Amino acid sequence: MIKAKGWAAFGPSSPLGAYSFERREVGERDVQIDISHCGICHSDLHTVRGDWGPQSYPIVPGHEIVGRVAKVGAKVDKLAVGDLAGVGCFVDSCGRCPQCERGDEQFCEHGASFTYASVEQDGATPTQGGYSTTIVVRQEYALKIAKGQPLERVAPLLCAGITTYSPLRRYRVGKGTRVGVLGLGGLGHMAVKLAAAMGAEVTLLSTKPLKKADAQRLGAHDFAVHTEEADWQRVRGRFDLVIDTVSAAHDLDHYVDLLGVGGTLVLVGAPQDLGKIGAFSLIGKRRAIAGSLIGGIRETQEMLDFCAQHGVLADVETIRAQEADQAYARMLRSDVRYRFVIDCDSLR
Ligand code: NAP
Ligand code: ZN
Repeated sequence: MIKAKGWAAFGPSSPLGAYSFERREVGERDVQIDISHCGICHSDLHTVRGDWGPQSYPIVPGHEIVGRVAKVGAKVDKLAVGDLAGVGCFVDSCGRCPQCERGDEQFCEHGASFTYASVEQDGATPTQGGYSTTIVVRQEYALKIAKGQPLERVAPLLCAGITTYSPLRRYRVGKGTRVGVLGLGGLGHMAVKLAAAMGAEVTLLSTKPLKKADAQRLGAHDFAVHTEEADWQRVRGRFDLVIDTVSAAHDLDHYVDLLGVGGTLVLVGAPQDLGKIGAFSLIGKRRAIAGSLIGGIRETQEMLDFCAQHGVLADVETIRAQEADQAYARMLRSDVRYRFVIDCDSLR
């Protein structure tokens, strides 16, 4: 077994702390990646705090993992020792069901092995995430990262990037599409950058007037404080597509009113309470509410290549693992500019 040092949650309300654990030996088709950086996603916080239900602890969170390949198995041909590589939100899946065959491994009919707070395909071994020094995954579930990029700014692409890229592609965003991005946090800032890079007309919708300058710098063409009546009236009915990244409870029946005729609100945020939808909020203007969950391996690689080609990188604040609790507290106050990323050398 391979020794790993991590930073883990030991319960829903206790502080995170040091945790030593083991990764499996590198099998024939496995790669071992020494982790340089791991982003902090709001999903890490939802999971460890039990927002999505009770969990087994300890949990080493983190699914925005980047680093360098340290070892490869005899049958690995996708990556070589020394290559830059990433791991996103899942580390394995059955590989045979219709969803896996289509490249939507996140919807694996036998259950994907998510990167943490999940189990390996043996159905028993707990998975542990990227707030750690090293990880071992099957080569098919590792992503290639182009050389010469700042790794700490690439890490958030593995979740925040793909989660917003996937619906932007699915709904064929391009020149002339009017996209509203609801919430300027980790996902929101990637949605703005990616939609702008695809040629869309992007409006950032925030609760915080102070984020206006940042929204413009990130590539938004317009900015509105959706909680202020005058701004709300100015933008309601404008959008073909709204990417809803809000992490806290909110009333969807109100926010679908941002859509024009035939518009779609894609929910990527995952709060527990979204209120009740009135029938006429949707049928009155042929509107749709949709959901989207990360993206498959093929699409994640496509997104990484798109970002490398268009110079799209996350805006990050790099921290030590030991500062994760403070980062969580700031994330809950929407005080993130715009992704915390752990320098995993702080664990070595
Ligand atoms: P984040 O960085 O904390 O950003 C969330 C943003 O939501 C905040 O910056 C804030 O934007 C807005 N917000 C927070 N509380 C609000 C409230 N009460 N009313 C209105 N707006 C509020 O979080 P994140 O990492 O981007 O994640 C966002 C959500 O997506 C989380 O629920 C996460 O679990 C989920 N997620 C889903 C997927 C998926 O596959 N679907 C993947 C990753 C994450 P302003 O300050 O601009 O108002
Ligand atoms: Zn995430």
